Amino acid sequence: MINTSSKLSSLMEDNAAPKEENPYPKIAKSIFYTAVISGAITGIFIIGGINWFIPFCVSVIVQIIGWTLWHSFLDFLTAKHVTEMDTQLALDYTKHLCITPCAKCKKTVKMPINLNEPSTFKCEKCGEKNRIYVSIETVLVTDPLIEKSKVSIT
Ligand SMILES: [Zn+2]
Repeated sequence: MINTSSKLSSLMEDNAAPKEENPYPKIAKSIFYTAVISGAITGIFIIGGINWFIPFCVSVIVQIIGWTLWHSFLDFLTAKHVTEMDTQLALDYTKHLCITPCAKCKKTVKMPINLNEPSTFKCEKCGEKNRIYVSIETVLVTDPLIEKSKVSIT
């Protein structure tokens, strides 16, 4: 059996030190969109001959509240997705990767095995469905005849 430590180490490298992103272009873009939308709404009121100041202020406030709610919703969805991925990853780490031969054609396959549920696979070579049985054996622990510290090279 081979454990998934190499997979874990590669994931840890991917998550190390997220890159800093310059927020100013994003803020400027957001202010630009808010100004354009508010300007368009205010333009309608100016053309209609109605006082434009209050609609402009309301438009800006509604957009800020709307964008805040929208980004909170996106953050919520992201957090939910990350939690689901973490749960799935934790479940995957309970499995061990096993290299096992097909019972019919002896082609070896790598299969993740969870000891709490039956593991099956369909052989890519012969197409037969296989089921993996795991047997656990015990052995007696013995002391080595020669201890490493007493061995000397002459
Ligand atoms: Zn096979």
